[in-house]
Amino acid sequence: YVGGQSAEAEHSLRELAALAETAGSTVLDGFLQKKSTPDPGTFFGSGKAEQIREAVAEVGADTVIVDSELAPSQRRGLEDIVKVKVIDRTGLILDIFAQHAQSREGKAQVELAQLEYLLPRLRGWGDSMSRQAGGQVGGAGAGMGSRGPGETKIELDRRRINQRMAKLRREIANMKPAREAKRANRRRNAVPSVAIAGYTNAGKSSLLNRLTDAGVLVENALFATLDPTVRKASTPDGIGYTLSDTVGFVRALPTQLVEAFRSTLEEVADADLILHVVDASHPEPEGQIAAVRQVLADVEAHEVDEIIVLNKADAAEWDVVERIRRREPHTVLVSARTGEGVEELKELISQSIPRPNVPLELLVPYADGDIVSRLHAEDVEILSTTYTEEGTQLSVRVRPEMT
Ligand code: GDP
Repeated sequence: YVGGQSAEAEHSLRELAALAETAGSTVLDGFLQKKSTPDPGTFFGSGKAEQIREAVAEVGADTVIVDSELAPSQRRGLEDIVKVKVIDRTGLILDIFAQHAQSREGKAQVELAQLEYLLPRLRGWGDSMSRQAGGQVGGAGAGMGSRGPGETKIELDRRRINQRMAKLRREIANMKPAREAKRANRRRNAVPSVAIAGYTNAGKSSLLNRLTDAGVLVENALFATLDPTVRKASTPDGIGYTLSDTVGFVRALPTQLVEAFRSTLEEVADADLILHVVDASHPEPEGQIAAVRQVLADVEAHEVDEIIVLNKADAAEWDVVERIRRREPHTVLVSARTGEGVEELKELISQSIPRPNVPLELLVPYADGDIVSRLHAEDVEILSTTYTEEGTQLSVRVRPEMT
């Protein structure tokens, strides 16, 4: 890691290690370099690069992951020194996306993002592949950073990659109407929607489980939930709403991924309420909150009502919790693990979602003017009145300002 304040750099490096473990690696060692500008040829200065080479040889690592974006020439330069495969942060995140994409659209989007990432690096990749073939680099075949498009696609020339990308874009565009129709349907039914967003590993899946009693897979892995999963939930007073989980955010999410996962994030922009889950056991969750908000703003979801859900209350530092509470007006402290605060959260959700504004049919056996004027006083709009043998059939709607 080069540059930045060192506490910030350490956090970022820890996150990189967590990401690498999510991708199935074992992290053996970590290095920080305090240097304001990366070396144009090898990214790290020569002393640090040499230190990394020694460590790689000593612990028997097969990959070096750099917590930054590397120019193709820097990656090659560094590979020449450390003698193992070098990948950068974006490459690693793409790798995780490739492992976790489930739906057809998710897969298409990941492949598109991988090709976008690959295209400007095409020559670099070719070089490193030929070196790899020569036996100097790399260990066990399709390791980190090489999942996804696969060997045959790596050999595609630029033109064919562009054609493939165009095809993927068309496919993705064709998948959109189905999703929009689904969304329109939700709107028509006037079912309020709540989206769970938040930093990786903040506890989104665990919270989804708490709120819905659904058996969603929870694993101690970032990006356990890549594809939008929509579930049903209801408030304590019985108002149904949809609850959707979203892909975990990472700090400095590469822009090409923001584009690629727009559909997932678009879903958040359409929600009536965002539960922004924050890991309160993190020493400085402010950076995570800012990162999530940045991405929400990128997808125009910043105007959606937001509740900051400070999760992991059981493991949180009190001063951190107090600090966030002073800054953020709408917070609730919960533990998805112990259930603490979850009832309070359910209440808050209940108060924050719009009431479905669908007409209600009431049959009032002995309706008279008194009942009608009392309904008016309660801000109930009476749409129609039909007198039947059983009584008065009223079609009513709660006025929007009362929802
Ligand atoms: P997601 O990536 O945001 O969906 O997070 P998960 O729900 O998968 O949780 C990530 C990790 O945090 C898992 O190991 C959970 O067991 C753990 N976790 C979730 N909620 C809590 C909590 O309230 N307290 C503690 N101590 N750990 C939690």
